[in-house]
Amino acid sequence: MATISSTEQSQYERLAEQLALMPETVARLLVDHAADDTGRCVGCTRPGTGYPARVHPCTLHRLALMALAVRRRMGER
Ligand SMILES: [Zn+2]
Repeated sequence: MATISSTEQSQYERLAEQLALMPETVARLLVDHAADDTGRCVGCTRPGTGYPARVHPCTLHRLALMALAVRRRMGER
């Protein structure tokens, strides 16, 4: 996993907070961005080839997980 700056981190958190309000989108992302047999994301394919290009968990999968964590926090309030 690449390290990301704190600015990017808070942008991801804001995005995750928005996503947390869209549970169907979060579920869709988790289904579409699952790992294949070789540990790569089946949703993040190389353009034009359909070949999985990203190591799983990809950015979108992690974002969906963050959104789930936000939902849990919202549920606890
Ligand atoms: Zn992906």
